[in-house]
Amino acid sequence: MRDQQMSQAATRRLSKVLAGGIGSGGRIDHRGLFLTEGTGARVTDADGHGYIDYMMGFGALILGHRSAPVVDAVQAALGQGTMFGAACPAELELAERVVACWPCADMCRFTSSGTEAVQAALRLARAATGRDKVLKFEGHFHGWGDNIYVSVKASVHSGLNARPHALRMTPGQPETVLSDVVVAPWNDLPALEAILSDHGRDIAALILEPYPTNNGCMDSGAAYLQALRSLCDRNGIVLIFDEVVSGFRLGLSGAQGHYGVTPDLCTFGKAMAGGMPIAGFAGKRDLMALLEGNQVSHLGTYNSNAISAVAALATIDTLAKDDGAAFARITKYGRSLTDGFNEIFRRHNLPLCADGLGPVLSIFAAATPPERYRDTLTHDAALLARLHQALLAEGIWIFGRGNLMIGTAHGPAEMDETLEKMDRVASTLTN
Ligand code: PLP
Repeated sequence: MRDQQMSQAATRRLSKVLAGGIGSGGRIDHRGLFLTEGTGARVTDADGHGYIDYMMGFGALILGHRSAPVVDAVQAALGQGTMFGAACPAELELAERVVACWPCADMCRFTSSGTEAVQAALRLARAATGRDKVLKFEGHFHGWGDNIYVSVKASVHSGLNARPHALRMTPGQPETVLSDVVVAPWNDLPALEAILSDHGRDIAALILEPYPTNNGCMDSGAAYLQALRSLCDRNGIVLIFDEVVSGFRLGLSGAQGHYGVTPDLCTFGKAMAGGMPIAGFAGKRDLMALLEGNQVSHLGTYNSNAISAVAALATIDTLAKDDGAAFARITKYGRSLTDGFNEIFRRHNLPLCADGLGPVLSIFAAATPPERYRDTLTHDAALLARLHQALLAEGIWIFGRGNLMIGTAHGPAEMDETLEKMDRVASTLTN
């Protein structure tokens, strides 16, 4: 067992002054980890222990910790000012770059978080359609806004597979928001068609993670997304791809480029800016033009923050180099880890499997990967939690829910070490 004295002392101090001892509810699975430094694909804790980082800032650090292009760009920009609260060159350049990336985009706006970007996109869809209801999929996460933090997890109160109930995810969320959220099961077209035949004409937006990762990676393929596109067209619904995870990760044009299906609006964030806080939304001119003259409001003191914007420019330019070689690299490494894990799980006869497109992958506590969110409810959560903790003790840091984010800083050394440690951990899990 690693000595964790310094981390434990710091965690105790934190718990007295930082509510719950964590800065975000999403960090609960690694409460107690107190990190002091990050370089490339690795982080170091207060006791000097190293970890290979597969959290990568929840996906934000696609170029790794302290990537030189980002650090240099930020340092240079600091000489000019941290924020302006008015248009500046970095905002102009970033908007041009982002609009060029997204197939759906004629125009964009920036926010400080994915949660805000989702709120803005939903508001635009409501304003454009004059409808209030939003359709979302069970198991998909779109930030923590009251009106959409709904049915991210199912429970005994979740209703039939084909007709999930809308469930609040936290005390303090008003019950009233549920009347404007309709929930559908992911990857079940007949169920969705039935829901739309009841509610289709009341729904402003269909929002989804086109490559869902928040309850494990689930690739449902281009034909499914194309069918969603057609259903939205038929019902006058604004199709929103929430690309906060998939954007700048599956490729420069995100999931919409990967699958070749173009939404009306998209949201993005995380991987775009080397860990600096910036996100945004983009879409077709007719929708985005509603922001003209503040007809539809979208505000934010820190929007288009100058430092975050230069970090984003440096990140996007680095990712774009050599025809997107970075994406090919992370896909290759992600796939080799997936294959390696599956070989280890089979050899140790463990009910675990790995799956995913590569740049982000998931380990599931089941013999085969899920096709639908509710499949995951029967998975062995306790086994996944043991795996997560055992890997952490070996210096391999993955998401508590089993995801791994691959970045350009991961290389052959990290792959070999990870597989070797996974093999060791797997042998202990069989007992
Ligand atoms: N949308 C998706 C798909 C996400 O995964 C997240 C965060 O994990 C968000 C939106 C919210 O983004 P943020 O945490 O930047 O508010």
